[in-house]
Amino acid sequence: MAGVKIDGLEKKFGSLRVLKGIDLDIRDGEFVSFLGPSGCGKTTLLRSIAGLEEIDEGQVVLGGQPISKLPPAKRDIAMVFQNYALYPHMNVYKNLSFGLSLNGVPKAQIDERVQNAARILQITELLKRRPKQLSGGQRQRVAIGRAIVRDPKLFLLDEPLSNLDAGLRVTMRVELANLHKRLGVTMIYVTHDQVEAMTLSDRVVVLDQGKVAQFGTPLELFYAPRNLFVASFIGSPK
Ligand code: ADP
Repeated sequence: MAGVKIDGLEKKFGSLRVLKGIDLDIRDGEFVSFLGPSGCGKTTLLRSIAGLEEIDEGQVVLGGQPISKLPPAKRDIAMVFQNYALYPHMNVYKNLSFGLSLNGVPKAQIDERVQNAARILQITELLKRRPKQLSGGQRQRVAIGRAIVRDPKLFLLDEPLSNLDAGLRVTMRVELANLHKRLGVTMIYVTHDQVEAMTLSDRVVVLDQGKVAQFGTPLELFYAPRNLFVASFIGSPK
């Protein structure tokens, strides 16, 4: 079981209070989006869960285990960024397997995990290619593949589709939804795109200046916004 519980999380950058007491209870296997305007703290919250930011107060619990004091590599979390930097000099197979070999995973197991991720993402044909021989969507799949091979308890995705053109975004959105169904793993997705959040998520966290304005299903946000901020953000054109 790997739900995520966040209690009283506070984060400052110097004197700037960026996260102001975040409490969240995300269920095992849920797809949750962090949605809100630029600068509201979405990425900082995600990075705090991953351990890439040191938090000032509060704690993060993953699958019942407090993880706030653990280094990122020990958290059993995989993160996919917007700038999914692949290793340019390695082929796709190597890009997928490299992290596992560093962690001392046996070769046979590495191969099994890479082949399995490649099958799920339909990139088996591309394993021998270098990143520069791939399209944007294919590169994004490889980046997601690098997360899948680690078999994490939690996936964190930071605007992973924002560099793709509009048509491809829609395709990849469907693929992500399918991937979530197939893996059944908890996923947290950061976006400022309300359509993306509403179509992909079981529940959405709307953030307003470092606070949770509302945490609910897309329908709840749409039909029962808790305050004016949520109502105007959800209803506004992109
Ligand atoms: P979002 O992802 O919602 O756009 P961020 O979490 O990136 O928001 O940023 C929230 C606030 O924290 C912004 O005001 C941003 O300028 C500030 N911030 C983010 N990272 C840093 C940092 N490393 N140093 C100083 N301020 C930062």
